[in-house]
Amino acid sequence: MSDEEAFTIECSNCAKPLSEVWALPPKDGSNPNKNVTIVVKCPWCGDKSWAKKTTGRFAFGDTVHSRIENVESKLDEDGNEHLMVMTGKGTE
Ligand SMILES: [Zn+2]
Repeated sequence: MSDEEAFTIECSNCAKPLSEVWALPPKDGSNPNKNVTIVVKCPWCGDKSWAKKTTGRFAFGDTVHSRIENVESKLDEDGNEHLMVMTGKGTE
């Protein structure tokens, strides 16, 4: 489990909050210490967040600035997970 239960990921360029992120309990049989890198695309400036390196499982939520559209998960050869979160513009 990550040491952070919930956090917000912001755009590295325009600093808009792009996604609320919550830690989830590990699935049975899964590795709770699996390394995860999270990057969120910014719908406003076309840039993206800094890569957030953490461990565990996560849920992603909208902010007023962005809607979560899709989360693409890829595993590298070491079994580390790379999450790319695609977003659309929110209401502000
Ligand atoms: Zn941005």
